[in-house]
Amino acid sequence: MIGIGADEPVPGRLIAVEGLDGSGKSTQIYLLKRWLEMKGLKVFFSEWNSSFLVKKATSKGKKRQLLTPTTFSLIHSTDFADRYERQILPLLKAGFIVLCDRYIYTAFARDAVRGCPRPWLHKLYSFARKPDITFFFNTPLQTALGRILGGRPQLKYHEAGMDLGLSRDPYESFSLFQGKIYQEYLAMKDGYSFEEIDGTALIETQQQQVREIVGERIDLARFRRRSSI
Ligand code: ADP
Repeated sequence: MIGIGADEPVPGRLIAVEGLDGSGKSTQIYLLKRWLEMKGLKVFFSEWNSSFLVKKATSKGKKRQLLTPTTFSLIHSTDFADRYERQILPLLKAGFIVLCDRYIYTAFARDAVRGCPRPWLHKLYSFARKPDITFFFNTPLQTALGRILGGRPQLKYHEAGMDLGLSRDPYESFSLFQGKIYQEYLAMKDGYSFEEIDGTALIETQQQQVREIVGERIDLARFRRRSSI
């Protein structure tokens, strides 16, 4: 990789949130972002899979079932590498606190469920530095499912894990798929030193805990924007 190794020091700090769909992670990272911004700190927010590239490639592929777990995984990792090298890393080098709604652990969990070997996945994403803090919102499967499926949303093909052939009903497929992903998160949480947050706690309680951990682990005063006056 051009530039900087995954272990080289940078002035910025990287915070990621992980968990099931409906675990509450986006709510918390949004509140964290607002808090850090209100303190006048340099913050940047990045989301998993937002790119046009992935949407186009996967929507074409799914129609004709062209994608294997390996090619599906490679498309996502390419997208992530692009975002990592164009946004995340430059901003870390520029001394920002970078907040990521989902990070490489999302790929580890989803792609392992799809059958990609875990060591292969770890190697594939080895260019990416480990976050300074990874929050894992540990929300019981039924709670997370209830939050997402309560509104009977339109589930996308891959989002529901339909490519795995678990069920022909998208809602059942989604539930089974999420259950498998949850097991992957549980298996990863100690090895990757996730900061576990009780996903069933009140939003305010969770946010208080998140802020406390961030305040303890990161010297926030270092990230103040210089006043333009
Ligand atoms: P995710 O990003 O993990 O998919 P969201 O933050 O979008 O989850 O939350 C999913 C839904 O659950 C939203 O309707 C949100 O308001 C609700 N929610 C989030 N956190 C909590 C919580 N601690 N308790 C109850 N409901 C929550």
